[in-house]
Amino acid sequence: MQKILQEAIDNNRHWTAHGAVASYIPELAKENPDALGVCIYNIDNTTLCAGDSHTKFTIQSVSKVVTLICALIDKGKETVFSSVGMEPSADPFNSMVKLETRESHKPLNPFINAGAIVCTSMVQGDNGIEKFNRIHNMIKIMADNPAIDINQSVYRSEKLTGNTNRAIAYYLKGAGLIEKDVEDVLDTYFKLCSIEVTALDVAKMASVVANNGITPWSNERLMSIEICRIVKAIMTTCGLYDSSGQFSVEVGLPSKSGVGGCIMAVAPQNMGIAVIGPALDSHGNSMAGKKVLEYLSNELNLSIF
Ligand code: GLU
Repeated sequence: MQKILQEAIDNNRHWTAHGAVASYIPELAKENPDALGVCIYNIDNTTLCAGDSHTKFTIQSVSKVVTLICALIDKGKETVFSSVGMEPSADPFNSMVKLETRESHKPLNPFINAGAIVCTSMVQGDNGIEKFNRIHNMIKIMADNPAIDINQSVYRSEKLTGNTNRAIAYYLKGAGLIEKDVEDVLDTYFKLCSIEVTALDVAKMASVVANNGITPWSNERLMSIEICRIVKAIMTTCGLYDSSGQFSVEVGLPSKSGVGGCIMAVAPQNMGIAVIGPALDSHGNSMAGKKVLEYLSNELNLSIF
């Protein structure tokens, strides 16, 4: 298995040169475009890593998985899906064009920025700080790592330059989909994107979903089987932005990517996987990370299809 993991990195490292790091958030442009690492956390509590797996990166949109989990736990699926849809989007992650054309103004799904901002506002808490703490704590518990914290420079950079997200959030407020203060919700969203993790942290988070909501290391139930089922379905249909269909064909694992270069993948009843490769393709997905997952899926016969 370690040999296969090493091959996945060695055979695909050249793909890093075909992508580019995200630059629309200036701090992200400082990431190393050549980095490529992978970690697996098996539900039998064994772990394997290869490549630049110690690289620290910001979680970005992978946090949207945990935001959705918390919103579903705190408010239930009826309430959550009354304000956000469950359909894939053929538009980029930060697009707002469909908000206006849909009658209800509901964002298409919880994994585009608009949907994640609505889910953030639905999480338990009287204000942004309480909502942030709720999701941050869940990330720490799912990763089994109490030291996980915000990267302050990325947070400042997101807040300073997040004008598209600001426009989306104010539109949602106007449509009545955000109850509380818009700036407070946005601040929470920016903080969540800026949480710094490693591939092992994300692999462990994915292993909880793979293990139907129970932490493999302490046998603690964090969420219901039904929530895991919903989350895996939305990861499969919406997790890789507007290339989720292609990714399902090539990899076939419920996954979520982020512009920091991480892809979280769930092999149900088997393992959590995380790849990090900050050079992105034109959809915002890790260029070489996708290839590493494709290699592992083929070699280990992981596709759920
Ligand atoms: N902080 C990023 C944004 O909202 C996250 C995007 C992503 O990872 O997809 O623009």
